[in-house]
Amino acid sequence: MKKMPMVLIVEDEPAIAELIAVNLRHNGFQPVWAEDGVTAQRELDAVLPDVILLDWMLPGASGLALARKWRADSRTKAVPILMLTARGDEPDKVAGLDAGADDYITKPFSTQELLARIRAVLRRRAPEQIQDKVNIGELVLDAASHRVSWQGDMLKVGPTEFKLLHYLMKHPERVHSRAQLLDKVWGDHVFIEERTVDVHVKRLREALGVAGTLIETVRGAGYRLSAQALA
Ligand code: CA
Repeated sequence: MKKMPMVLIVEDEPAIAELIAVNLRHNGFQPVWAEDGVTAQRELDAVLPDVILLDWMLPGASGLALARKWRADSRTKAVPILMLTARGDEPDKVAGLDAGADDYITKPFSTQELLARIRAVLRRRAPEQIQDKVNIGELVLDAASHRVSWQGDMLKVGPTEFKLLHYLMKHPERVHSRAQLLDKVWGDHVFIEERTVDVHVKRLREALGVAGTLIETVRGAGYRLSAQALA
């Protein structure tokens, strides 16, 4: 049987939390409710959920402070966070995304909208969590051990460059636009500019050394990882 994704709901209003929990349960999720940051932390220390639904206004630490804290913690930093904000709080949304939330949803929201957002963050996070090994010629990336090697020699590759390389190696011989790479590697994060991609591609090429030539710039279109580039 497929594992039910676990959703930690951090929400101080019992009526809202209960409504969300019931809907999640009916749709194949396993909800866990925490009414404040302290309780949420206790839940996180016990079991890591697949997604955190985080209310903005909470007694004690705010949703924003909690998002920052969990993003900075190596144990929780990869867990997607979906912020729940009040209608029209634009500055809240910006601050929430800056604090490391993956997305936000404005109250009141429909069950369908909530489920769609949860599924979207789960999908976006999924590629990184696949523990596999890919190789293009003598360039090998092992997602399980987080290692990259070229002709048997280990290479030092930064975390973002690693994700970028993983994606390119899984989809070789085709051109990816900067917008597509942002969407697939970074998640559709509105605060990242397209030239950020260029910066990371440059760093990745430097990290790969000789194998850096595998990554081709396709003028006016984007980037392509091609085994033919070395031949
Ligand atoms: Ca609240």
